[in-house]
Amino acid sequence: MQNIVDFIKQTFNTNEFIPLHEPRFIGNEKKYLNDCIDSTFVSSVGKYVDEFEKKFASYIGSKYAIATVNGTAALHISLILANVKDEDEVITQPLTFIATTNAISYCKAKPIFVDVDLDTLGMSPKSLLTFLEQNCEIKDDKCINKTTGKTIKACVPMHTFGHPCKIDEIKGICDKWNIILVEDSAESLGSFYKNKHTGTFGKVSAFSFNGNKIITSGGGGVIVTDDENLAKRAKHITTTAKIPHPYEYVHDEIAYNYRLPNINAALLVAQMENLDKFLDSKRQLSKIYEEFFSTKEIDFIFEPRNSNSNYWLQAVLLKDKTKRDEFLKYTNENGVMTRPIWKLMNELEMYKDCQATSLENAKFLEQRVVNIPSSVRV
Ligand SMILES: *Cc1c(COP(=O)(O)O)cnc(C)c1O
Repeated sequence: MQNIVDFIKQTFNTNEFIPLHEPRFIGNEKKYLNDCIDSTFVSSVGKYVDEFEKKFASYIGSKYAIATVNGTAALHISLILANVKDEDEVITQPLTFIATTNAISYCKAKPIFVDVDLDTLGMSPKSLLTFLEQNCEIKDDKCINKTTGKTIKACVPMHTFGHPCKIDEIKGICDKWNIILVEDSAESLGSFYKNKHTGTFGKVSAFSFNGNKIITSGGGGVIVTDDENLAKRAKHITTTAKIPHPYEYVHDEIAYNYRLPNINAALLVAQMENLDKFLDSKRQLSKIYEEFFSTKEIDFIFEPRNSNSNYWLQAVLLKDKTKRDEFLKYTNENGVMTRPIWKLMNELEMYKDCQATSLENAKFLEQRVVNIPSSVRV
């Protein structure tokens, strides 16, 4: 395994510790931050939020983008926009970051877990359809789970590590079963499925700009949609539902303080300017890894068919859990940071009683997938 450690150090051109994913500030970040500070508009008002929202919507090809304080907040609001309420159920995948499942819980709804595909690591349309056919029926235009009698309001697939899942098939199934599609695109800025940007398939979608994502604002997120009413509502309820007025404070419902501060947006505007450069670097790195691992007992995970991945986090598949544990131990003890994929959501204490399908693929991947250093090389 020393050869793997040596290769990664050589690839990143250093003998120092190599983190999994570092942000890069190689553009106008300081300039815009200074401008923001000089203007005194560092908080809830300022031009960078508007500028970022316009740029982001235009980049991914959606009509509207609403910036939020983080990706989890963006997901929470997305589910509210999908009208997910107390007593509802939401289908998602067990192999994801905890935020996906937590956002469902914030709406007091219950998650249901269907399996993922081995080639995309994301929700399997086949598993979704099988679950619906075996457990659900349409009644009064609602998708009813016959086991619980509850309504399945929404479905939240996630594009794992930036690799697009089979989102058009999932959308087709959701449309047929009257389920609202909400994409967790937190990891997939710059990823396209059949030449359409991830996050533009769902009725509403969420992205994250946390420090470890492909671009960052320190913390931040965005909601995207093509629906004007939903966009207006998203802005309203992420900004305390304040009615515009020259000086009075009138709020027309209980809402959230989820807006993105202008200073974070300034950072994001600068980061967006280098997104294409970051994407090139990540694709190049994927080629380097792919070639290196092709001669090893370890499979490099590459972008699924029909898609153009951002390769946000590079990943490999080990033969079994023992081999995975050896790999994790050796690399982490030798200055190369690697991390296993998440524990399955349905195995966590809070979600262990949720309804789930057999989840064979998710269980297989959980024991074998490891992320390896993925930072943009400068
Ligand atoms: C990063 C991430 C989020 C949101 O994270 P924040 O840290 O709140 O910005 C949501 N879902 C997934 C899958 C993520 O990777």
